[in-house]
Amino acid sequence: MSTSFIRILAEEVTTLQAQFPHLAERLGRARTLLETGRMFVEDSGTEAMVTSKDGTQCWHVNGNCDCPASLHRREACYHRLAFRIYEKVVERLAHEEECYTLNLAPNVAPPTIRPEWLVQVQGRPFIRFEGLLELAHARGLVSLETVIVQANEAMAIAQCTAVFSDGRRFTDIGDATEKNVAKHLSPHFIRMAATRASARCLRRALNISACSVEELSGEEVGHE
Ligand SMILES: [Zn+2]
Repeated sequence: MSTSFIRILAEEVTTLQAQFPHLAERLGRARTLLETGRMFVEDSGTEAMVTSKDGTQCWHVNGNCDCPASLHRREACYHRLAFRIYEKVVERLAHEEECYTLNLAPNVAPPTIRPEWLVQVQGRPFIRFEGLLELAHARGLVSLETVIVQANEAMAIAQCTAVFSDGRRFTDIGDATEKNVAKHLSPHFIRMAATRASARCLRRALNISACSVEELSGEEVGHE
């Protein structure tokens, strides 16, 4: 099993678990099933065989599943979930390989920045976070995750990771204190650290050197 398969599988399952918390446990079992190679997909791609953990039993999965759990419940057993996830992962894997092949010809257009995304502050151009986000989506942003690394009354530090559909991954950090954000935002400086981390991360990903408005300190922004 390729490392890309394992990575995409983890991403898909994590996303689904966040979307459907009531299925989290079953999705986790589906992931283990796939990771341990207990699902054998037929060449047709429309059905699969699943073996039990101890290898003594075997079930047949297509739209349905003939395992005991399926007989008692209408909702999908984890074998069926695993099959659906498998299809999704394979589809993404094929797409990534396609992107990778295309990327061999370096033909990446420079980012197009719309005028409404730019703000002049003391004569210098700054980009708005919403512009960065929109550009990133246009470039295939699939996830943007920010975590607070450290926070106390004085200062907050956040780290952001952006992942694109071609597998590229960027990370950066941002910090904020009550004093270095605009006055009306000072009660929200922790959130501001997260926004700054995201902005820096997206700028890195998009290769934009102009700072974002959100990275400015209070005095620079003035009384906007
Ligand atoms: Zn089943």
